[in-house]
Amino acid sequence: MATSTKQATYAQNSLQGRVSLAETKLLDRIRQLVEIESPSDDKRAVDRCVDAVVEMAAELGGRVRRHRQRAFGDVLELRFGRTRRAEQKSAPVMLLGHLDTVWPLGTLRSVPFRVAKGRAWGPGVLDMKAGVAMGLTAIESLRQQDALRRPVIFLLNSDEEVGSTVSRGITEKLARECAAVFVLEPAQGPKGAYKTARKGVGGYTVRVTGVAAHAGVDFERGHSAIAELAWQLEKVRGFTELDRGLTVNAGVIRGGTRTNVIAAEAEAEIDVRIARAKDAERIDRRFRSLRVRDRGCVLHVEGGMNRPPMERSRGTVALFRRAATLAAQIGFELGEASTGGGSDGNFTTALGVPTLDGMGAVGEGAHASHESVVLESLIPRTALLAEMIRTT
Ligand SMILES: [Zn+2]
Repeated sequence: MATSTKQATYAQNSLQGRVSLAETKLLDRIRQLVEIESPSDDKRAVDRCVDAVVEMAAELGGRVRRHRQRAFGDVLELRFGRTRRAEQKSAPVMLLGHLDTVWPLGTLRSVPFRVAKGRAWGPGVLDMKAGVAMGLTAIESLRQQDALRRPVIFLLNSDEEVGSTVSRGITEKLARECAAVFVLEPAQGPKGAYKTARKGVGGYTVRVTGVAAHAGVDFERGHSAIAELAWQLEKVRGFTELDRGLTVNAGVIRGGTRTNVIAAEAEAEIDVRIARAKDAERIDRRFRSLRVRDRGCVLHVEGGMNRPPMERSRGTVALFRRAATLAAQIGFELGEASTGGGSDGNFTTALGVPTLDGMGAVGEGAHASHESVVLESLIPRTALLAEMIRTT
């Protein structure tokens, strides 16, 4: 008992010592990143944010590689710690995040960065600029303690909010060489749980082409794309299996032209979430087996899974257990959670690389105007991140 208390106190003091110098710097990094707006669809804007991180990383002795992109901001690969030759002997740890946000340019004018009520507020602060700043600060504290034993690859992409289509290959290639992946996405809930499972995400478009006709004069000649789509959507609704964590949501629907015209076109966009990897095939089969009811209509089904589920693997659970022990030493209780939302951690988990997610900031309002991070948890959680890197 006495020994463990002593150890805990030692761990607490040394950890707090390690990061306390960096506390102001951490908040300053968060501010800098939030004040450079970076919507996914604006390459120039995101690249300005990439430039800022390159500068921050250079101060920490990071080696920089930019994977140039045309349609999106560049994907930034930062390496810290030992040289390439030594890296071959010891598998790196990956810190994974993104610099893009869902906020359009100009949001800062109405929602500026500010610190108030024990929180930092601003567009993208929680998802996930604070996480990026925490990663840099964790590396900084480890360097100051000469405790950066294992090399670190800090990978930041610019297209996460729009599906990670261009960065996925880079993420997967680099993750394969890593011992573990720590995803700096926001933590779950007000208590800041780490995430050990995420649902897989997919999307389908169901499109119906019918036959237009005058609704008054020629009613019987028409084949309504809308009526057909409505019938198909009722079938699709039945694909949901809540007990398996499989959900299907028709979130967007469009079609038709005027009330007096039998609609020639109608389509729906459908979001699919799966908790189990093997359900990807099952749900795909069900979508592909949709058949028209009105033979005068033609049905097109497109889509598939975008992110595989992050299943709660043994390697991930082991990472979480270690994190919970370290958190207790630092002085807080760390919970475990699963979520229906996807992240790039889905990709790395599917490769079999132990992945822990939600290691970024605690806060509220991701993608909403009250987006904010809780200040008092920033330092302990950055300390935990540093400890996780050090002990991997
Ligand atoms: Zn995010």
